[in-house]
Amino acid sequence: MREVVEPRAREAPSALVIVGQPVAQSLSPTLQNAALRHAGRAVVYTRCDVASTALGPAVDDLRRARTGGNVTMPHKEAMFTLAAHTTAAAERTRAVNTFWWDGDTLVGHNTDVDGVMATVAALCSGGVHGDVVVLGAGGAAAAVLVALALSPLTRDARVLVASRTRSRAERLVALAGGRTTALAHMTDVPWAQAGLVVNATPAGMRDSDDVPVPVESLPAHTAVFDLVYRREGTAWVRDAKARGLPAEDGLRMLVEQGAAAFACWFGEPPSRDVMWHALGVPRPDARAPRP
Ligand code: NAP
Repeated sequence: MREVVEPRAREAPSALVIVGQPVAQSLSPTLQNAALRHAGRAVVYTRCDVASTALGPAVDDLRRARTGGNVTMPHKEAMFTLAAHTTAAAERTRAVNTFWWDGDTLVGHNTDVDGVMATVAALCSGGVHGDVVVLGAGGAAAAVLVALALSPLTRDARVLVASRTRSRAERLVALAGGRTTALAHMTDVPWAQAGLVVNATPAGMRDSDDVPVPVESLPAHTAVFDLVYRREGTAWVRDAKARGLPAEDGLRMLVEQGAAAFACWFGEPPSRDVMWHALGVPRPDARAPRP
């Protein structure tokens, strides 16, 4: 029987990893190692590239070494099933992006929810004027749906989930309940009513020119949130800003989910300034006002 626990490690991890495939592009080691050094902690955060078929043995190795860390695609849902103890956020999303050990017991949590909430609060401070459209139905989309339900800015909005694989969207909608509807494909989205569009697919991650939906399809008031991040910004966010739409990529979410994970592992928050500095981009609050 799975036990639901508080999001706080009893013992700080002795090493940290990001588990996923691919992980070479992840900026988590960059920002976490900077924060660890700044906090005077002799812990190193490394990448752990693991195929889906090798996740079980890899987790056994991490257990022996008492290594905690983060989880990225495609393992968030599998890590949820492997965790014997989970937090309320992991239960709600059925996905784990942060883990640690309580003795031999794997504890799974989800701080992507914190990252999404922080970004929605910054991007939509004046409210959301229309539907929220979520593109994709994986582990990150699950965190988006939970955050949308928790945020006072979005909890009354109608939410539409458009996914390549309809069954995955239906599963998420069943978890989210309420005002959430599954759509078969992006071509079914009533774009004219969109107040906020969230990209939770990897579009733009490998091919820097790829966009999840052309911004020309969106009304002039729509806010755009791309979970994908690049130091130089994503093509979708650049296109949206060029059209005058409020838009953010996934860097703020990356920092906020990382800061929340750090606080769970070590019982104290990291320096967000140090994390942003390590990324080499200005902290968004300090960026120039939008056009
Ligand atoms: P995931 O579990 O693999 O789910 C990906 C979703 O995108 C699935 O619904 C998948 O559909 C869909 N998809 C994949 N390729 C697609 C394509 N070419 N066209 C349309 N749909 C496509 O991945 P995830 O963990 O949810 O992550 C999704 C994205 O969010 C990744 O790019 C990840 O880097 C980003 N992310 C960013 C942060 C951050 O801190 N900024 C945090 C978490 C995730 P199928 O089911 O049909 O394959």
